[in-house]
Amino acid sequence: MKRKAQPKPEQVVPEEILEQAKRSVSEDRIGKRPPRCAVCGAETAMAGPEPLCWVCRRLKISAWREIEQQAPVQE
Ligand SMILES: [Zn+2]
Repeated sequence: MKRKAQPKPEQVVPEEILEQAKRSVSEDRIGKRPPRCAVCGAETAMAGPEPLCWVCRRLKISAWREIEQQAPVQE
């Protein structure tokens, strides 16, 4: 399929598709807000049953390690 010279070479993307893209982006922003940290309420990229920001995640991991270290080894 051969194309003839386009009258508007700068307008490659049709208006309709542009509008659709804009709409889907704004819907994305409204529908998929970043989850909030369950501890401090900061925005986080982590989604899941327990959303935590990186600060609280680190605190939690270090707390786990402390618990593991303090736990008596029973053998
Ligand atoms: Zn947090």
